[in-house]
Amino acid sequence: MKYETVVGLEIHTELSTKTKMYCGCATTFGSAPNSNCCPGCLAMPGTLPVLNKTAVRYAIAAGLAMNCEISAWGKQDRKNYFYPDLPKAYQDSQLDTPLCKNGYIDITVDNTIKRIRINRIHIEEDAGKLLHDSISGDTLIDLNRGSLPLIEIVTEPDISSAEEAKLFLESVKAILEYTEVSDCKMEQGSLRCDVNVSIRPEGETKLGTRCEMKNINSFRAAFRAIEFESMRQKKELEFGGKLVQETRRWDDVKGESTSMRNKETAMDYRYFPDPDLVYIAIDDDFIDDVKRSLPELPAARKTRYMEQYNISSYDAEQITNSKQYAEFFEGCLAEGATPKAVCNWILGDIARILNEKNMSPGDIPFSHIQLAKLIGLIEDGIISNTAGKTVLSELFENPRNPEDIVSEKGLAQISDEGQLTKAICEVIAANPKSVEDYKAGKDKAIGFLIGQTMRATKGKGNPELINKLLKTELDK
Ligand code: ADP
Ligand code: MG
Ligand code: ZN
Repeated sequence: MKYETVVGLEIHTELSTKTKMYCGCATTFGSAPNSNCCPGCLAMPGTLPVLNKTAVRYAIAAGLAMNCEISAWGKQDRKNYFYPDLPKAYQDSQLDTPLCKNGYIDITVDNTIKRIRINRIHIEEDAGKLLHDSISGDTLIDLNRGSLPLIEIVTEPDISSAEEAKLFLESVKAILEYTEVSDCKMEQGSLRCDVNVSIRPEGETKLGTRCEMKNINSFRAAFRAIEFESMRQKKELEFGGKLVQETRRWDDVKGESTSMRNKETAMDYRYFPDPDLVYIAIDDDFIDDVKRSLPELPAARKTRYMEQYNISSYDAEQITNSKQYAEFFEGCLAEGATPKAVCNWILGDIARILNEKNMSPGDIPFSHIQLAKLIGLIEDGIISNTAGKTVLSELFENPRNPEDIVSEKGLAQISDEGQLTKAICEVIAANPKSVEDYKAGKDKAIGFLIGQTMRATKGKGNPELINKLLKTELDK
Protein backbone atom coordinates (compact mmCIF):
# COMPACT_ATOMS: atom_id res chain seq x y z
CA MET A 1 0.00 0.00 0.00
CA LYS A 2 1.13 3.55 -0.69
CA TYR A 3 1.10 5.94 2.24
CA GLU A 4 1.32 9.70 2.45
CA THR A 5 2.92 11.69 5.24
CA VAL A 6 0.96 14.30 7.20
CA VAL A 7 2.74 16.87 9.32
CA GLY A 8 1.56 19.67 11.62
CA LEU A 9 3.98 22.04 13.35
CA GLU A 10 3.84 24.00 16.59
CA ILE A 11 6.55 26.65 16.45
CA HIS A 12 7.72 28.52 19.53
CA THR A 13 9.51 31.81 19.02
CA GLU A 14 10.98 34.16 21.56
CA LEU A 15 9.91 37.73 20.91
CA SER A 16 12.48 40.53 20.58
CA THR A 17 11.02 42.65 23.38
CA LYS A 18 13.49 44.42 25.66
CA THR A 19 11.72 43.20 28.79
CA LYS A 20 10.01 40.01 29.93
CA MET A 21 6.34 39.15 29.56
CA TYR A 22 5.08 40.32 32.97
CA CYS A 23 7.92 42.30 34.61
CA GLY A 24 10.65 44.79 33.73
CA CYS A 25 13.54 42.28 33.70
CA ALA A 26 15.88 42.32 30.72
CA THR A 27 15.66 39.66 28.02
CA THR A 28 19.36 39.76 27.07
CA PHE A 29 20.79 36.39 26.08
CA GLY A 30 23.97 35.20 27.76
CA SER A 31 23.76 37.26 30.99
CA ALA A 32 25.17 35.79 34.21
CA PRO A 33 22.78 33.07 35.47
CA ASN A 34 19.84 34.38 37.48
CA SER A 35 20.82 38.02 36.97
CA ASN A 36 17.76 38.93 34.87
CA CYS A 37 15.28 38.04 37.57
CA CYS A 38 12.99 39.81 40.03
CA PRO A 39 10.43 38.75 42.65
CA GLY A 40 7.82 38.68 39.88
CA CYS A 41 9.47 36.23 37.50
CA LEU A 42 10.76 34.22 40.49
CA ALA A 43 7.12 33.77 41.50
CA MET A 44 7.38 35.25 44.98
CA PRO A 45 4.01 35.29 46.75
CA GLY A 46 2.24 38.62 46.53
CA THR A 47 3.76 39.76 43.24
CA LEU A 48 1.43 40.62 40.39
CA PRO A 49 1.98 40.37 36.63
CA VAL A 50 1.44 43.18 34.12
CA LEU A 51 1.32 42.12 30.46
CA ASN A 52 3.99 43.53 28.14
CA LYS A 53 2.13 45.51 25.46
CA THR A 54 4.98 45.18 22.97
CA ALA A 55 4.67 41.39 23.16
CA VAL A 56 1.02 41.72 22.12
CA ARG A 57 2.05 44.08 19.34
CA TYR A 58 4.65 41.63 18.04
CA ALA A 59 2.21 38.72 18.17
CA ILE A 60 -0.26 40.77 16.11
CA ALA A 61 2.50 41.77 13.67
CA ALA A 62 3.36 38.09 13.17
CA GLY A 63 -0.34 37.31 12.74
CA LEU A 64 -0.90 40.02 10.13
CA ALA A 65 2.25 38.99 8.26
CA MET A 66 0.93 35.42 8.20
CA ASN A 67 -2.53 36.46 6.96
CA CYS A 68 -4.38 35.81 10.22
CA GLU A 69 -7.57 37.28 11.62
CA ILE A 70 -6.81 39.28 14.76
CA SER A 71 -9.04 38.76 17.78
CA ALA A 72 -10.76 41.73 19.39
CA TRP A 73 -10.10 40.34 22.83
CA GLY A 74 -8.25 37.54 24.55
CA LYS A 75 -7.56 36.06 27.94
CA GLN A 76 -4.57 34.29 29.36
CA ASP A 77 -4.83 30.85 30.91
CA ARG A 78 -2.71 29.03 33.42
CA LYS A 79 -1.30 25.74 32.20
CA ASN A 80 -0.51 23.94 35.44
CA TYR A 81 2.34 21.54 35.89
CA PHE A 82 5.23 21.06 38.26
CA TYR A 83 8.78 21.21 37.01
CA PRO A 84 11.87 22.75 38.64
CA ASP A 85 12.37 25.25 35.79
CA LEU A 86 8.90 26.71 36.45
CA PRO A 87 8.76 28.39 39.88
CA LYS A 88 5.10 29.45 39.47
CA ALA A 89 4.16 25.81 38.78
CA TYR A 90 2.09 27.10 35.86
CA GLN A 91 2.86 28.65 32.53
CA ASP A 92 0.69 31.50 31.32
CA SER A 93 -0.58 30.70 27.84
CA GLN A 94 -3.79 31.11 25.85
CA LEU A 95 -6.03 28.09 25.73
CA ASP A 96 -8.96 29.07 23.52
CA THR A 97 -8.63 32.77 22.76
CA PRO A 98 -5.49 33.07 20.65
CA LEU A 99 -4.64 36.60 19.53
CA CYS A 100 -4.48 35.46 15.91
CA LYS A 101 -6.22 32.69 13.97
CA ASN A 102 -7.04 31.30 10.52
CA GLY A 103 -3.95 32.47 8.67
CA TYR A 104 -1.72 30.93 6.03
CA ILE A 105 1.67 31.02 4.37
CA ASP A 106 2.21 30.06 0.73
CA ILE A 107 5.31 28.03 -0.04
CA THR A 108 6.66 27.09 -3.48
CA VAL A 109 7.08 23.33 -3.91
CA ASP A 110 8.37 22.09 -7.29
CA ASN A 111 7.34 25.35 -8.93
CA THR A 112 3.77 25.22 -7.64
CA ILE A 113 2.37 27.25 -4.82
CA LYS A 114 1.07 25.35 -1.83
CA ARG A 115 -0.91 26.99 0.94
CA ILE A 116 -0.16 25.90 4.50
CA ARG A 117 -2.92 27.05 6.82
CA ILE A 118 -2.15 28.43 10.25
CA ASN A 119 -4.65 27.42 12.89
CA ARG A 120 -3.62 30.00 15.49
CA ILE A 121 -0.90 32.15 17.01
CA HIS A 122 -1.04 32.72 20.74
CA ILE A 123 1.20 34.33 23.36
CA GLU A 124 2.77 32.52 26.27
CA GLU A 125 5.77 32.70 28.57
CA ASP A 126 8.96 30.65 28.48
CA ALA A 127 10.26 28.49 31.33
CA GLY A 128 13.72 28.68 32.95
CA LYS A 129 16.61 26.50 31.99
CA LEU A 130 18.08 23.51 33.79
CA LEU A 131 21.81 22.91 33.46
CA HIS A 132 23.06 19.46 34.28
CA ASP A 133 26.61 19.52 35.58
CA SER A 134 28.18 16.28 34.41
CA ILE A 135 31.11 16.54 36.85
CA SER A 136 29.28 17.12 40.14
CA GLY A 137 26.08 15.46 38.99
CA ASP A 138 24.17 18.51 40.21
CA THR A 139 21.38 20.20 38.33
CA LEU A 140 21.49 23.99 38.32
CA ILE A 141 18.65 26.36 37.51
CA ASP A 142 18.98 29.54 35.45
CA LEU A 143 15.77 31.54 35.55
CA ASN A 144 16.89 34.28 33.15
CA ARG A 145 14.78 32.66 30.45
CA GLY A 146 11.80 32.31 32.80
CA SER A 147 8.84 34.45 31.65
CA LEU A 148 10.43 35.56 28.37
CA PRO A 149 7.63 36.37 25.91
CA LEU A 150 6.90 33.71 23.30
CA ILE A 151 4.44 33.18 20.53
CA GLU A 152 3.35 29.74 19.47
CA ILE A 153 2.39 29.32 15.82
CA VAL A 154 0.24 26.23 15.19
CA THR A 155 -0.33 24.95 11.66
CA GLU A 156 -3.11 22.80 10.30
CA PRO A 157 -1.86 19.34 9.27
CA ASP A 158 -1.33 20.61 5.70
CA ILE A 159 2.36 19.71 5.33
CA SER A 160 3.03 16.57 3.30
CA SER A 161 6.77 15.98 3.52
CA ALA A 162 10.00 16.81 5.31
CA GLU A 163 10.89 19.08 2.38
CA GLU A 164 7.65 21.06 2.71
CA ALA A 165 8.19 21.38 6.46
CA LYS A 166 11.66 22.80 5.80
CA LEU A 167 10.32 25.30 3.24
CA PHE A 168 7.56 26.33 5.63
CA LEU A 169 9.96 26.81 8.55
CA GLU A 170 12.27 28.89 6.36
CA SER A 171 9.34 31.11 5.39
CA VAL A 172 8.25 31.53 9.01
CA LYS A 173 11.79 32.44 9.99
CA ALA A 174 12.08 34.98 7.16
CA ILE A 175 8.77 36.63 8.10
CA LEU A 176 9.74 36.86 11.78
CA GLU A 177 13.10 38.37 10.86
CA TYR A 178 11.66 40.91 8.42
CA THR A 179 9.01 42.04 10.91
CA GLU A 180 11.69 42.07 13.65
CA VAL A 181 9.31 40.14 15.86
CA SER A 182 12.12 37.71 16.75
CA ASP A 183 15.83 37.36 16.07
CA CYS A 184 15.17 33.66 15.32
CA LYS A 185 18.59 32.61 16.62
CA MET A 186 18.05 28.89 16.64
CA GLU A 187 21.39 28.17 18.30
CA GLN A 188 20.15 30.29 21.24
CA GLY A 189 16.80 28.54 21.28
CA SER A 190 14.84 31.56 20.00
CA LEU A 191 13.01 29.36 17.50
CA ARG A 192 12.09 25.74 18.18
CA CYS A 193 9.29 23.48 17.14
CA ASP A 194 7.18 20.48 18.01
CA VAL A 195 6.71 18.19 15.06
CA ASN A 196 3.53 16.10 14.70
CA VAL A 197 3.69 13.26 12.19
CA SER A 198 1.18 10.71 10.97
CA ILE A 199 0.70 8.70 7.81
CA ARG A 200 -2.39 7.54 5.94
CA PRO A 201 -3.11 5.49 2.82
CA GLU A 202 -2.87 7.69 -0.26
CA GLY A 203 -6.28 9.19 -1.08
CA GLU A 204 -7.61 8.71 2.45
CA THR A 205 -9.05 11.92 3.93
CA LYS A 206 -9.25 10.89 7.59
CA LEU A 207 -6.12 11.68 9.60
CA GLY A 208 -3.98 8.85 10.92
CA THR A 209 -2.71 8.40 14.47
CA ARG A 210 -0.02 10.98 15.15
CA CYS A 211 3.08 11.11 17.23
CA GLU A 212 4.66 14.31 18.47
CA MET A 213 8.35 15.12 18.85
CA LYS A 214 8.93 18.16 21.06
CA ASN A 215 11.53 20.92 21.15
CA ILE A 216 13.36 20.32 17.91
CA ASN A 217 15.81 23.15 17.54
CA SER A 218 17.12 23.03 14.00
CA PHE A 219 15.48 22.80 10.58
CA ARG A 220 17.77 19.92 9.71
CA ALA A 221 16.67 18.00 12.79
CA ALA A 222 13.00 18.66 11.94
CA PHE A 223 13.62 17.36 8.41
CA ARG A 224 15.36 14.20 9.61
CA ALA A 225 12.81 13.57 12.36
CA ILE A 226 9.93 13.69 9.84
CA GLU A 227 11.72 11.37 7.40
CA PHE A 228 12.54 8.91 10.15
CA GLU A 229 9.13 8.97 11.77
CA SER A 230 7.09 8.52 8.59
CA MET A 231 9.32 5.58 7.66
CA ARG A 232 8.98 4.05 11.13
CA GLN A 233 5.19 4.35 11.01
CA LYS A 234 5.05 2.79 7.53
CA LYS A 235 7.14 -0.16 8.68
CA GLU A 236 4.99 -0.54 11.77
CA LEU A 237 1.79 -0.75 9.72
CA GLU A 238 3.29 -2.92 7.00
CA PHE A 239 4.33 -5.50 9.56
CA GLY A 240 0.82 -5.57 10.98
CA GLY A 241 1.54 -3.40 14.00
CA LYS A 242 -0.70 -0.69 15.42
CA LEU A 243 0.22 2.95 15.96
CA VAL A 244 -0.56 4.68 19.24
CA GLN A 245 -0.82 8.40 19.83
CA GLU A 246 2.32 9.27 21.74
CA THR A 247 5.05 11.76 22.45
CA ARG A 248 8.43 10.60 21.18
CA ARG A 249 11.90 11.92 21.84
CA TRP A 250 13.99 12.74 18.77
CA ASP A 251 17.68 11.93 19.22
CA ASP A 252 19.48 13.91 16.56
CA VAL A 253 22.82 12.24 17.20
CA LYS A 254 21.47 8.70 16.82
CA GLY A 255 19.00 9.85 14.17
CA GLU A 256 16.04 8.04 15.71
CA SER A 257 12.95 8.65 17.81
CA THR A 258 11.99 6.70 20.93
CA SER A 259 8.74 6.56 22.84
CA MET A 260 8.40 8.89 25.86
CA ARG A 261 4.77 8.80 26.88
CA ASN A 262 1.45 7.79 25.38
CA LYS A 263 -2.05 9.23 25.60
CA GLU A 264 -2.89 7.50 28.86
CA THR A 265 0.08 8.99 30.66
CA ALA A 266 -0.36 12.40 29.00
CA MET A 267 -0.63 15.27 31.42
CA ASP A 268 -3.83 17.08 32.30
CA TYR A 269 -2.85 20.71 32.67
CA ARG A 270 -6.02 21.87 34.40
CA TYR A 271 -6.12 25.07 32.39
CA PHE A 272 -8.05 27.99 33.86
CA PRO A 273 -8.09 31.75 33.17
CA ASP A 274 -5.35 33.52 35.13
CA PRO A 275 -7.22 35.62 37.71
CA ASP A 276 -4.25 37.97 38.12
CA LEU A 277 -4.34 39.11 34.50
CA VAL A 278 -6.99 41.32 32.93
CA TYR A 279 -8.55 40.56 29.55
CA ILE A 280 -6.69 41.81 26.52
CA ALA A 281 -8.76 44.23 24.45
CA ILE A 282 -7.51 45.01 20.96
CA ASP A 283 -9.10 47.85 19.03
CA ASP A 284 -8.95 48.47 15.29
CA ASP A 285 -6.71 51.52 15.69
CA PHE A 286 -4.06 49.36 17.34
CA ILE A 287 -4.31 46.74 14.60
CA ASP A 288 -4.11 49.44 11.89
CA ASP A 289 -1.09 50.93 13.56
CA VAL A 290 0.69 47.54 13.58
CA LYS A 291 -0.35 47.00 9.95
CA ARG A 292 1.16 50.32 8.90
CA SER A 293 4.43 49.46 10.60
CA LEU A 294 4.91 46.20 8.68
CA PRO A 295 7.82 46.19 6.23
CA GLU A 296 7.80 44.73 2.74
CA LEU A 297 7.44 41.00 3.42
CA PRO A 298 9.55 38.20 1.87
CA ALA A 299 6.86 37.08 -0.61
CA ALA A 300 6.33 40.62 -1.94
CA ARG A 301 10.05 41.19 -2.09
CA LYS A 302 10.56 37.97 -4.01
CA THR A 303 8.04 39.04 -6.67
CA ARG A 304 9.62 42.48 -6.88
CA TYR A 305 13.11 41.05 -7.35
CA MET A 306 11.90 38.78 -10.15
CA GLU A 307 10.22 41.67 -11.96
CA GLN A 308 12.70 44.44 -11.23
CA TYR A 309 15.98 42.53 -11.56
CA ASN A 310 14.93 39.71 -13.83
CA ILE A 311 16.29 36.96 -11.59
CA SER A 312 14.77 33.49 -11.37
CA SER A 313 12.07 32.53 -8.90
CA TYR A 314 14.52 30.18 -7.19
CA ASP A 315 17.25 32.81 -6.83
CA ALA A 316 14.77 35.44 -5.65
CA GLU A 317 13.42 33.05 -3.04
CA GLN A 318 16.86 32.06 -1.78
CA ILE A 319 17.89 35.70 -1.41
CA THR A 320 14.68 36.96 0.17
CA ASN A 321 14.39 34.04 2.59
CA SER A 322 17.19 35.67 4.51
CA LYS A 323 16.77 39.26 5.59
CA GLN A 324 20.54 39.63 5.77
CA TYR A 325 21.05 38.30 2.25
CA ALA A 326 18.33 40.60 0.92
CA GLU A 327 19.91 43.62 2.58
CA PHE A 328 23.36 42.64 1.34
CA PHE A 329 21.98 42.13 -2.17
CA GLU A 330 20.30 45.54 -2.25
CA GLY A 331 23.39 47.16 -0.77
CA CYS A 332 25.51 45.80 -3.64
CA LEU A 333 22.99 46.99 -6.22
CA ALA A 334 23.11 50.47 -4.72
CA GLU A 335 26.85 50.38 -5.42
CA GLY A 336 26.10 49.68 -9.06
CA ALA A 337 26.74 45.91 -9.19
CA THR A 338 24.77 43.74 -11.63
CA PRO A 339 21.90 41.83 -9.92
CA LYS A 340 22.67 38.45 -11.48
CA ALA A 341 26.35 38.66 -10.53
CA VAL A 342 25.54 39.61 -6.94
CA CYS A 343 23.03 36.81 -6.75
CA ASN A 344 25.57 34.27 -8.01
CA TRP A 345 28.22 35.35 -5.54
CA ILE A 346 25.86 35.32 -2.57
CA LEU A 347 24.13 32.01 -3.34
CA GLY A 348 27.29 30.39 -4.68
CA ASP A 349 30.64 30.99 -3.02
CA ILE A 350 29.46 33.10 -0.08
CA ALA A 351 26.74 30.61 0.95
CA ARG A 352 29.23 27.75 0.54
CA ILE A 353 31.90 29.39 2.71
CA LEU A 354 29.33 30.36 5.38
CA ASN A 355 28.18 26.78 5.43
CA GLU A 356 31.72 25.41 5.68
CA LYS A 357 32.51 27.78 8.52
CA ASN A 358 29.22 27.08 10.27
CA MET A 359 28.33 30.76 10.04
CA SER A 360 25.01 32.39 9.19
CA PRO A 361 24.31 35.21 6.71
CA GLY A 362 24.39 37.75 9.53
CA ASP A 363 28.04 36.82 10.21
CA ILE A 364 29.42 37.91 6.81
CA PRO A 365 32.54 39.78 7.96
CA PHE A 366 32.90 42.14 4.97
CA SER A 367 30.60 44.85 3.64
CA HIS A 368 28.35 44.97 0.59
CA ILE A 369 30.60 47.75 -0.71
CA GLN A 370 33.55 45.34 -0.73
CA LEU A 371 31.60 42.66 -2.58
CA ALA A 372 30.36 45.21 -5.14
CA LYS A 373 33.96 46.30 -5.69
CA LEU A 374 35.11 42.72 -6.16
CA ILE A 375 32.41 42.14 -8.77
CA GLY A 376 33.44 45.37 -10.52
CA LEU A 377 37.08 44.22 -10.69
CA ILE A 378 35.99 41.07 -12.50
CA GLU A 379 33.58 42.82 -14.83
CA ASP A 380 36.25 45.36 -15.77
CA GLY A 381 38.61 42.52 -16.65
CA ILE A 382 41.12 43.54 -13.99
CA ILE A 383 41.03 40.12 -12.32
CA SER A 384 39.81 36.75 -13.51
CA ASN A 385 36.86 34.94 -11.99
CA THR A 386 39.31 32.51 -10.37
CA ALA A 387 41.30 35.35 -8.83
CA GLY A 388 37.93 36.73 -7.65
CA LYS A 389 37.44 33.59 -5.58
CA THR A 390 40.84 34.12 -3.97
CA VAL A 391 39.84 37.70 -3.13
CA LEU A 392 36.60 36.42 -1.58
CA SER A 393 38.42 33.94 0.68
CA GLU A 394 40.67 36.79 1.73
CA LEU A 395 37.63 38.97 2.49
CA PHE A 396 36.40 36.28 4.85
CA GLU A 397 39.79 36.01 6.60
CA ASN A 398 40.76 39.65 6.77
CA PRO A 399 38.21 42.02 5.24
CA ARG A 400 39.72 45.01 3.46
CA ASN A 401 39.60 46.85 0.14
CA PRO A 402 39.54 44.23 -2.66
CA GLU A 403 41.85 46.45 -4.74
CA ASP A 404 44.48 46.23 -2.00
CA ILE A 405 44.13 42.44 -1.90
CA VAL A 406 44.61 42.30 -5.67
CA SER A 407 47.81 44.34 -5.57
CA GLU A 408 49.21 42.65 -2.42
CA LYS A 409 48.70 39.22 -3.89
CA GLY A 410 49.55 40.18 -7.46
CA LEU A 411 46.22 38.91 -8.73
CA ALA A 412 45.71 41.43 -11.53
CA GLN A 413 45.32 40.00 -15.00
CA ILE A 414 47.64 40.95 -17.82
CA SER A 415 45.52 42.89 -20.27
CA ASP A 416 48.42 44.64 -21.97
CA GLU A 417 48.17 43.69 -25.66
CA GLY A 418 51.86 44.17 -26.38
CA GLN A 419 52.93 41.97 -23.49
CA LEU A 420 50.40 39.28 -24.40
CA THR A 421 51.31 39.34 -28.12
CA LYS A 422 54.94 38.84 -27.18
CA ALA A 423 54.07 35.74 -25.16
CA ILE A 424 51.79 34.47 -27.94
CA CYS A 425 54.53 34.82 -30.59
CA GLU A 426 56.90 32.80 -28.42
CA VAL A 427 54.27 30.08 -27.94
CA ILE A 428 53.60 29.98 -31.69
CA ALA A 429 57.31 29.69 -32.46
CA ALA A 430 57.74 26.85 -29.96
CA ASN A 431 54.74 24.81 -31.17
CA PRO A 432 54.82 24.53 -34.98
CA LYS A 433 52.88 21.24 -34.89
CA SER A 434 49.88 22.83 -33.18
CA VAL A 435 49.99 25.78 -35.56
CA GLU A 436 49.86 23.35 -38.45
CA ASP A 437 46.95 21.49 -36.86
CA TYR A 438 45.07 24.77 -36.41
CA LYS A 439 45.63 25.68 -40.05
CA ALA A 440 44.40 22.20 -41.03
CA GLY A 441 41.12 23.01 -39.24
CA LYS A 442 41.67 21.18 -35.97
CA ASP A 443 39.89 23.42 -33.47
CA LYS A 444 41.38 21.66 -30.48
CA ALA A 445 44.78 23.07 -31.28
CA ILE A 446 43.77 26.58 -30.31
CA GLY A 447 42.81 25.42 -26.83
CA PHE A 448 46.28 23.99 -26.38
CA LEU A 449 47.92 27.21 -27.56
CA ILE A 450 45.75 29.30 -25.18
CA GLY A 451 46.79 26.97 -22.37
CA GLN A 452 50.45 27.42 -23.24
CA THR A 453 50.08 31.20 -23.29
CA MET A 454 48.32 31.12 -19.92
CA ARG A 455 51.25 29.12 -18.62
CA ALA A 456 53.72 31.57 -20.07
CA THR A 457 51.89 34.41 -18.28
CA LYS A 458 51.74 32.41 -15.03
CA GLY A 459 47.96 32.19 -15.30
CA LYS A 460 47.52 35.94 -15.29
CA GLY A 461 46.80 36.56 -18.94
CA ASN A 462 43.31 37.81 -19.67
CA PRO A 463 41.85 34.69 -21.36
CA GLU A 464 39.42 36.55 -23.61
CA LEU A 465 42.15 38.84 -24.85
CA ILE A 466 44.56 35.93 -25.38
CA ASN A 467 41.92 34.16 -27.42
CA LYS A 468 41.42 37.21 -29.64
CA LEU A 469 45.12 38.05 -30.07
CA LEU A 470 46.10 34.44 -30.71
CA LYS A 471 43.61 34.17 -33.56
CA THR A 472 44.92 37.41 -35.06
CA GLU A 473 48.49 36.09 -34.96
CA LEU A 474 47.58 32.66 -36.35
CA ASP A 475 45.48 34.09 -39.18
CA LYS A 476 48.25 36.43 -40.27
P1 ADP B 1 -1.95 19.44 21.05
O1 ADP B 1 -1.97 20.85 21.50
O2 ADP B 1 -2.54 18.47 21.97
O3 ADP B 1 -0.59 19.01 20.62
P2 ADP B 1 -3.42 20.25 18.65
O4 ADP B 1 -4.79 19.81 18.24
O5 ADP B 1 -3.28 21.65 19.05
O6 ADP B 1 -2.91 19.28 19.77
O7 ADP B 1 -2.49 19.90 17.40
C1 ADP B 1 -1.15 20.12 17.44
C2 ADP B 1 -0.57 19.99 16.06
O8 ADP B 1 -0.71 18.67 15.57
C3 ADP B 1 -1.18 20.88 15.00
O9 ADP B 1 -0.14 21.46 14.27
C4 ADP B 1 -1.95 19.94 14.13
O10 ADP B 1 -1.99 20.37 12.78
C5 ADP B 1 -1.16 18.67 14.24
N1 ADP B 1 -1.92 17.44 14.01
C6 ADP B 1 -3.10 17.11 14.54
N2 ADP B 1 -3.47 15.88 14.12
C7 ADP B 1 -2.48 15.42 13.31
C8 ADP B 1 -2.28 14.22 12.57
N3 ADP B 1 -3.12 13.22 12.60
N4 ADP B 1 -1.12 14.11 11.86
C9 ADP B 1 -0.23 15.11 11.83
N5 ADP B 1 -0.38 16.25 12.49
C10 ADP B 1 -1.49 16.42 13.24
MG1 MG C 1 1.30 19.77 20.83
ZN1 ZN D 1 11.35 39.72 36.45
